[in-house]
Amino acid sequence: MSEEYNRMDFDKYMVPCFSPAPFIPIRAKGSWVWDQNGKDYIDLAGGIAVNSLGHVNKYLKKALKQQLDKLWHIGNGYTNEPVLQLAKTLVESTFADKIFFCNSGAEANEAALKLSLKYAANFYGKKKNEIIAFNDAFHGRTLFTVTVGGQPQYSAEYISLFANIIHLPYNNLQAVSSHISEHTCAIIVEPVIGEGGVYPADPIFLQGLRRLCNHFNVALIFDEVQTGAGRTGSLYAYQQYNVEPDILTSAKGLGGGFPIGAMLVKENWAQVFTLGTHGTTFGGNPMAATVANSVLGLLDNKLFEGVKQRNVWIIKKLSLLQEKYSIFKDLRSMGLLIGAELSMHWKGKAKILTNFAAEEGVITLIAGPNVIRFTPALNICFRDLQEAFIRFERALIRLKNS
Ligand SMILES: *Cc1c(COP(=O)(O)O)cnc(C)c1O
Repeated sequence: MSEEYNRMDFDKYMVPCFSPAPFIPIRAKGSWVWDQNGKDYIDLAGGIAVNSLGHVNKYLKKALKQQLDKLWHIGNGYTNEPVLQLAKTLVESTFADKIFFCNSGAEANEAALKLSLKYAANFYGKKKNEIIAFNDAFHGRTLFTVTVGGQPQYSAEYISLFANIIHLPYNNLQAVSSHISEHTCAIIVEPVIGEGGVYPADPIFLQGLRRLCNHFNVALIFDEVQTGAGRTGSLYAYQQYNVEPDILTSAKGLGGGFPIGAMLVKENWAQVFTLGTHGTTFGGNPMAATVANSVLGLLDNKLFEGVKQRNVWIIKKLSLLQEKYSIFKDLRSMGLLIGAELSMHWKGKAKILTNFAAEEGVITLIAGPNVIRFTPALNICFRDLQEAFIRFERALIRLKNS
């Protein structure tokens, strides 16, 4: 098969909303990826923070294989054992009392936003329908979530469809307290802005949002689609901020490479989604739940400690590269969600740098035009990191000489 298809077929047959790399990966293991020509790459992107335990993880594979022989899909007219186990684990290890499962981050956010609108309408009337979101936020690509996101390049054509969404500056509590009112029904916020440039929240910002939400009876939604499932060095980032949301959304790393989304909620919010008011066909299917159970089974304190050690290692490495080449102006991170912002001289060149990096055999991400983002597997070994940054340094030299 590898002979038969090439990158040109993408342009020929696929909707051009992506522009994939010129090479086609065909195989991967741990933090290594191989393309059609047998060239190897070290993966510091992890499929955009998804392959949280590396490619083809042996424990995940074993669990999936066992489930493969039992039950793939049964629909929500029946429950199943893997999903019950997953819900129980999430309830026992977080603030949440109830879980709703779906298939992606956007879908989890749709559920959270719908739920908060419905909750407000039920208890306070239809005038309480305003959503506060933040500039540079990313919440997904469905019609609703894209307008809640704070990136006009994704949403400008659709924004007029939903009038009651306001975008305020991130980490600016004053802006929120001046704006919030009894008409506000939800605040949705990423504890670390991911896609929009890797900006961790100030603890006082999230604490302040919690206070304001309590005061105005507003649902506080943490979008932990990217920061969740161990990415920041705890199961969810809120646990390090010591601020509990009312609703939390999870996806990406939760499935370790298998599509799954989840909305975690407190009891009183959960009760608003009464029979028939929300749903999904594939959500909570036994295959996805099985692999997520294995992922959660591997996320323990030892792994979280390892995430923090890897963060320290990578930040040190990036600081050394910064001293040597003066290409970055800011390094921002929480756990293994790491952003390196390019300095003025290299503004807008993040994509070019990731292209050089791939040519040198290391896969990295961008977070907007000026930030290189690293979201490797949480268990990437130090030997692989060492080799990855030797390759990344070669890419920096190429950028410097370009
Ligand atoms: C990726 C992401 C989403 C969207 O998730 P999908 O699975 O692509 O729908 C939502 N919020 C955040 C913070 C994300 O990083």
